[in-house]
Amino acid sequence: MIYYKTDEEIELIRISSLLVGKTLAEVARHIRPGVTTEELDKVAETFIRDHGAVPGFKGYGGFPATLCISVNEVVVHGIPGKQALKDGDLVSVDCGVILNGFYGDSAYSFAVGEVTEEVRLLMDRTKESLYLGIKAAQPGKRTGDIGYEIQTYVESFGYSVVRDLVGHGLGRHLHEKPEVPNFGKRGAGTMLQPGLVICIEPMINLGRRQVVQERDGWTIRTADRRPSAHYEHAIAIREGKTEILSSFDEIEKVLESQKQTLN
Ligand code: MG
Ligand code: MG
Repeated sequence: MIYYKTDEEIELIRISSLLVGKTLAEVARHIRPGVTTEELDKVAETFIRDHGAVPGFKGYGGFPATLCISVNEVVVHGIPGKQALKDGDLVSVDCGVILNGFYGDSAYSFAVGEVTEEVRLLMDRTKESLYLGIKAAQPGKRTGDIGYEIQTYVESFGYSVVRDLVGHGLGRHLHEKPEVPNFGKRGAGTMLQPGLVICIEPMINLGRRQVVQERDGWTIRTADRRPSAHYEHAIAIREGKTEILSSFDEIEKVLESQKQTLN
């Protein structure tokens, strides 16, 4: 069953989702070669709790940490630990919070130092595919229209769309109906109606689409061990329009200021 949200509930999901964006910005300040993924996790947990919220992933299905940190060939659900980031790594950071009983959920992929041109393009195009998916998510359209746009765009560069993991509804639960695949057919799937809140989160592989799960029961990596990027926004379908509830603005302010410091 799909839970359609009231305007008030959508505002609460916006507040939670904006806190996720601010948390990812705080994490961005600490991303550099040498930092361990568990140090980044600690930064996020402290920031979330200092803002009166609770990490949304910690304990979810037994997940042990605040962030999913997925490096290079890891697609999603990487567990923070002793791994130190290196110059040239692509690191995808997924974060959830609970505040006022509602989840926020958003993800961003970062370059550690200088990444290759190939990886930079994968990141840029994966983010672009997210915005194309959002543009397709107009009231009256269907989830298949979102997936179609994302898939068509990224496959035009020879990338592939992960099939085993999909976007989802968001609200009092982290994963609600409907599923929001990043592939699909125009006009197929669930109709997007006012009150629907969903996360769109393309997971795009440089190589083949197949993924495998590591023995830790969480980490999902590409079968061919080539890199994968991941970006996620929470959006709300309203009367006659669609709104992005999460934001990358704070993250990109940090990235911009880091660029200026380097130059
Ligand atoms: Mg997420
Ligand atoms: Mg999600």
